[in-house]
Amino acid sequence: MANKDLKYTRNIGIMAHIDAGKTTTTERILFYTGITHKLGETHDGSATMDWMEQEQERGITITSAAVTANWNYNDKTYKINVIDTPGHVDFTVEVERSLRVLDGAIAVFCAVGGVEPQSETVWRQADKYGVPRIGFVNKMDRSGANFYEVVRQIKEMLGANAIPIEIPIGSEENFEGVVDLIQNKAIVWFEDAQLGSRFETREIPESLKEEAKEWRDKLVEAVAETNEELMERYFEDPDSITEDEMMEAIRTATIDRTITPMLCGSAFKNKGVQSLLDAAVTFLPSPLDIPPVKGTNPETDEEESRENSVNAPLSALAFKIATDPFVGRLAFIRVYSGKIDAGSYVKNPRTGKKERISRLYQMKSNKQIPQESIGAGDIGAGVGFKDIRTGDTLCDEKHPITLESINFPEPVIGVA
Ligand code: GDP
Repeated sequence: MANKDLKYTRNIGIMAHIDAGKTTTTERILFYTGITHKLGETHDGSATMDWMEQEQERGITITSAAVTANWNYNDKTYKINVIDTPGHVDFTVEVERSLRVLDGAIAVFCAVGGVEPQSETVWRQADKYGVPRIGFVNKMDRSGANFYEVVRQIKEMLGANAIPIEIPIGSEENFEGVVDLIQNKAIVWFEDAQLGSRFETREIPESLKEEAKEWRDKLVEAVAETNEELMERYFEDPDSITEDEMMEAIRTATIDRTITPMLCGSAFKNKGVQSLLDAAVTFLPSPLDIPPVKGTNPETDEEESRENSVNAPLSALAFKIATDPFVGRLAFIRVYSGKIDAGSYVKNPRTGKKERISRLYQMKSNKQIPQESIGAGDIGAGVGFKDIRTGDTLCDEKHPITLESINFPEPVIGVA
């Protein structure tokens, strides 16, 4: 993979408290990106495949530590590595491990339950690792759903600058779409008996025009506040700020974590997931947006860093060891610099030994795809390790480095 492709790579996690809809949202993401993969198209959303059939086929990969999907947006194909982020509070250590290797996250909230103690825990962990986020208020079809209330809670309870970039059209059983505040248009979703889940772009409904304008003004103001030049222009003429400028400013502010863009939908009813994917590739960072990874040279004890480039010496982190019924023991790896080739030797500074990686894979829609090489910024899984643990670094023998690992707390046993 060349460096330029990194611009179109996203390593993202989906985080949520239990029951908010993380699994359903992940399944739908894999479903829509699977369609892209098979039919090579996205936005008319034609799904000729039966949802349940695909879901069954994919049972294994949904629970995989990282799944690679493609998404087409604005004539570009993005590669999205979806990293599994355990949502339950008991798995705090695992959550931290996955937060270490992802570059951005989708935080899923329930439109009825809003911010719950567990969402707070996961949110704080993401803050600790500086993970940029977009928010998805799910279950908008449920009775009692309230997008604005959840946005308020995220501001007040989590201290985030949560800013709607869309607002719902209808709610509960009448929830039918959103007003996209950036593009100033309505998006309405519907099921077509033959073609499956589809959506249509329309004029903003008359009854919502005023409300949409108010929220758009708030969005433009929030965007202007992140950027001095835009602020000056905003005071002169708020309408002079173009759609592209807004997108760029929101992207920068999301990566700086000064804004959390908020979207809504109902994953279960196939409403809003395509817009969520568009927002994820638009606003969440690529591996090029994150600083070079740091570590320690185990021979000199000096701090070193590695450029996000395939041409730099290899540095990679094993973040999950799993057993797969088809390929055996798999080590999921995030490559930060350089590349790993199938059949090559890499050094593990913890053991001081070289290991031969016999095969490399990426998990795609419903199968493991063998890879010749996995480059900087990408995620995959390797087979053939004799001794590997979660948190181990893999590096170039001539340029050894131990990447900063999370200090995983030892489990506390027997304390009252
Ligand atoms: P997780 O625990 O966060 O992974 O949540 P799940 O995806 O398993 O969802 C929990 C429950 O909520 C399941 O019964 C889902 O069918 C249901 N659910 C998920 N998304 C929606 C939604 O958009 N609307 C409604 N009404 N139910 C949903």
